Amino acid sequence: MMENPVLICDFDGTVTKNDNIVAIMKKFAPPEWEVLKDGVLSQGISVKEGVGKMFALLPSSQKKEITQFILQDAEIREGFADFVKYADQAGIPLYIVSGGMDFFVKPILNGLVPDNRIYCNEADFSEAMIHIRWPHACDDHCTNECGCCKPSIVRKVAKEKDLIVIGDSITDLEAAKQADLVIARDFLLKKSEELGLPYKSFQTFYDVIDHVKEVVE
Ligand code: MG
Ligand code: ZN
Repeated sequence: MMENPVLICDFDGTVTKNDNIVAIMKKFAPPEWEVLKDGVLSQGISVKEGVGKMFALLPSSQKKEITQFILQDAEIREGFADFVKYADQAGIPLYIVSGGMDFFVKPILNGLVPDNRIYCNEADFSEAMIHIRWPHACDDHCTNECGCCKPSIVRKVAKEKDLIVIGDSITDLEAAKQADLVIARDFLLKKSEELGLPYKSFQTFYDVIDHVKEVVE
């Protein structure tokens, strides 16, 4: 049984059903964004470089349209509000750790998760093109140029705790490798199986609640 559990939960493709950066780029970016996306997926360029350059393709003047679009487009996975409530009642700290941007992550989570439990990147609309800031960049132990560095955040908030990582993709993998339990879907599920990590799969956050209960109660 876990004595001191902490929950680290991804956002895009985990809390929300789709990847919000991909949705924004498909709708607003010129075709060059796909070259950057392919570069990130093949690990030819870092997430930080690729995502930074993708947003630099978008004029800051579109802030309002982009924000309205994504807040309408994003769909929260079933059971998330109950999961937040469960973690709260069980006294298990829950952090949302996201490679997404503050202008959509925080409004989508508004009323569900307080801002001080959210780690994400920041979009600056003060210049001609959107500029991304990285307040949670890699620490001295990571050289991946993650942008929002999940393993660095894990080292900060989950030190000497029982770490539960919830996620779906490659950006969750390094944190998952440090976890006592991985709750995964999609790519992260296949990878956890392949690497022999201690994992469970999920479709909805009701599955997540069940898996967490199993290890803490
Ligand atoms: Mg994700
Ligand atoms: Zn990193």
